[in-house]
Amino acid sequence: MMIHTDGIVIDRTEAGDTGFYLKVLSPDKGLIDVTVRGAKKQNSANGAASQLFACSHMSLSLSKGRYYMSGSEPIRTFYGIRLDIEKLSLAAYFSEVIRHTVTGEQTAGDIYRLFANSLYMLSEKEADNRFVKLVFEMRSCADLGMLPRLIGCDECYKTEQKMYFLIDEGILLCPRHMDTRHRYAGPYAVLVTSGMVEALRHICLSDMGSVFSFKLSDRALDTLSPLAERYIEYHTGRHYDTLDYYRKVRI
Ligand SMILES: [Zn+2]
Repeated sequence: MMIHTDGIVIDRTEAGDTGFYLKVLSPDKGLIDVTVRGAKKQNSANGAASQLFACSHMSLSLSKGRYYMSGSEPIRTFYGIRLDIEKLSLAAYFSEVIRHTVTGEQTAGDIYRLFANSLYMLSEKEADNRFVKLVFEMRSCADLGMLPRLIGCDECYKTEQKMYFLIDEGILLCPRHMDTRHRYAGPYAVLVTSGMVEALRHICLSDMGSVFSFKLSDRALDTLSPLAERYIEYHTGRHYDTLDYYRKVRI
């Protein structure tokens, strides 16, 4: 059986002397294992599509439950990412999130488009790495069923100038209802401005094609970056080693 799908390589290991085992994120098939024979040979037709983070049209044959690449046509190689250790570490972090949250034989169109757009922003747009990371973290949570309730205070539905974002509960509270709920500011109850709430709404709810089309001040990034890291770790129930590595190489 032959299938045709787009795919991005998120991991690869050697298969014998000349081939690779790839982990590929496909919008149609989720996360799948693909074997590429002879990819390391000179002039291999599938050499470009076997590069880490390359995005390609792939023709895959399914044999005894395994996918084999029989043809490919690269769309983007995102070459810029592989030349920059900080961007590379971020792409590895996004990949670890995907490995943990996406399984095989499911559609994964939303996370695929988010990942492809994020790699594009890192590779081609010279966007602030922290900005791309924030958008990936919050939007992937939203698309994977961990959307925070951002309409306003969870009690009175108002959006005040200053609000608290409760990471564990995934809600907003106004200062008055923080008091009545006996919650206090801390690592899991972060004071945010109405502008930051607006930014979170845009990231989580806007059309995927415009998810990166907004600006954030450095001050907003200083607040929202640690918030998003805690949010994704709390709601996916996991600590990401690749996030530690990104922090280490970040200048
Ligand atoms: Zn309230």
